[in-house]
Amino acid sequence: MRKSPKKYRKRIIKWQSLAIGVGIFCVILSTILAAYNQSTAPETNLTYTEFMSKVDNGEIASASIVESQNFFTATDTDGNEYTIPNPDYDEFRKDLMTSGVDLEISKVSVFEAVSSAISSMPMLILLFIIIWYVLKTMGGQTTTLYKLYKAEDAITFADVAGMSEAKAEVQFAVSQIKNAKKLKELGTKPCKGILLEGPPGTGKTLLAKAIAGEAKVPFISTNGSDFIEMFVGLGAARVRALWELAELNAPCVLFIDEIDAVGRRRRGSGDGAAMEANQTLNELLGRMDGLSSSAGIFVVAATNRSDDLDPALLRPGRFDKKLYIGPPKTKKDRDEIVSLYMKNKKFNEDATLNAVSRLMFGFSGAEIEQVLNESVLVSLQEGRDGIVSLKDVDTAAMKLRTSGVMVEQSSDEDINISSVHEAGHAVMSCLLGRKASKVSIRAYNSGVGGVTIRDTDDIENQKILTKEELSNEIEVLLAGRMAEQLILGSSSAGCSNDIERATQLAYNMLFTFAMDDTSLINPDALSKLDVNFIDTTNRIDKVNKLLLDFNNKVKVALTEHLEAVKSLADRLKVEEDIYDFSM
Ligand code: ADP
Ligand code: ZN
Repeated sequence: MRKSPKKYRKRIIKWQSLAIGVGIFCVILSTILAAYNQSTAPETNLTYTEFMSKVDNGEIASASIVESQNFFTATDTDGNEYTIPNPDYDEFRKDLMTSGVDLEISKVSVFEAVSSAISSMPMLILLFIIIWYVLKTMGGQTTTLYKLYKAEDAITFADVAGMSEAKAEVQFAVSQIKNAKKLKELGTKPCKGILLEGPPGTGKTLLAKAIAGEAKVPFISTNGSDFIEMFVGLGAARVRALWELAELNAPCVLFIDEIDAVGRRRRGSGDGAAMEANQTLNELLGRMDGLSSSAGIFVVAATNRSDDLDPALLRPGRFDKKLYIGPPKTKKDRDEIVSLYMKNKKFNEDATLNAVSRLMFGFSGAEIEQVLNESVLVSLQEGRDGIVSLKDVDTAAMKLRTSGVMVEQSSDEDINISSVHEAGHAVMSCLLGRKASKVSIRAYNSGVGGVTIRDTDDIENQKILTKEELSNEIEVLLAGRMAEQLILGSSSAGCSNDIERATQLAYNMLFTFAMDDTSLINPDALSKLDVNFIDTTNRIDKVNKLLLDFNNKVKVALTEHLEAVKSLADRLKVEEDIYDFSM
């Protein structure tokens, strides 16, 4: 089965379930009302033939007929009342009148008119909903198909914090748009568009908008999922309409968010949905191949992942350039975004740009913005008038990292173990030349222990891992367990995670990066060549030996600085969180 784009599918499902729900409600209501009407209709106690023979015998004195009711009443000369089925032929009243019966004919009473209207209402509502639903899916009047920003409204690179590398990369697009005419005269083939790939909230839309702002041209923004429609041909028509709009505004930047909704690999299957998606994509490809670039339409598309995009989209002459946009890559870029969102908020002295920025490691621009807004709320909750402390920022950041789950530290014994454990990590890190940005015994959703975050300032801009860094990393990991052994006499189950990571790192050091000079073999590569290749015990021995060597080094170092570990552990028991710890 074909899968429709997620967003679109969700929308359809929502409408469908709403319509089905209301439909079921209407049917139930109609049934109840019909049953009610039936139960209130009196039972007839005389057949029409019996009645007519009574009329012929002169026994009936009067009759009362309400129009459109399916029964009528009559009284005989003795005063008995009868209810008789109302026959459906016109001559009947005349017959009655000529036979001398007092006849009273009346219209439906107001009450009955209302009640009959009410009983047909559910059907009317149902009909209305069906019509509305069909119109809605056909016309889609309520979805915004595109937004058009005038050149003056677009932002510039100055409004985009960080992203220094990406800004430099797209500079060519700006000058291309600005000099479209000149480039054409010089006979160059301009680039038609770029594809921005990366997780949400990393500033892709912002960057696209800034390209328009820098080039001083209008910015048209649209979303790929809005092109996929239920009826074949509509999506393609929308692409045409969009290009017409772009041509009217050219030179301009045309931004297509979630291009994967339209640009997914074309499928061969002939069902309607696949046909619609294929037609839409073909239209898009056709438009990109057209004269749009010389007309000055520069297309920027964004996607979370480009691997299931149709390869045709990435062919030269379409999106010739692909750019990965992720969370800030350098401390400097991150500082820029942090400082942008720290503006207009009040901070405690301890919450310096540097300290705050360290806690935002790995966050996207949108997440940094969210954490800093949240930290103001945290401060308010704690009754500190919205003046944000470093701890508030950390609380907000941890909320995001752990999706809000925070486990209460259960016992004094747990607190004691975590304090010693984290102190071991932190002291070892300092001994190996890197302070700890944060040491904490507050447990988040992992349930046990706390966290020690090593300072990243020095290594953040460095791309290649060295043997020394990997070794240090492993030693810091092992130090939590060693501190427990040296101070508490034995180690706890809380070390499992550390041991797992240390094992992986040690394996990689030996067999992926060949950092140990005694062996240059990558066993995984070898096993691909030779299915019978097994050398598990040998590998286990080597990894284990390396880990034990590191463990001994950690033991020597921590034994020598045991007082430092103990005093940090005591501080942690009281303060819970310590920022910027160094020795
Ligand atoms: P994407 O298109 O990658 O999903 P957006 O460009 O829509 O992300 O970013 C979402 C929001 O996050 C922006 O409106 C802005 O508030 C914030 N943001 C993200 N990156 C940055 C950045 N580099 N500078 C300033 N704000 C940013
Ligand atoms: Zn640990």
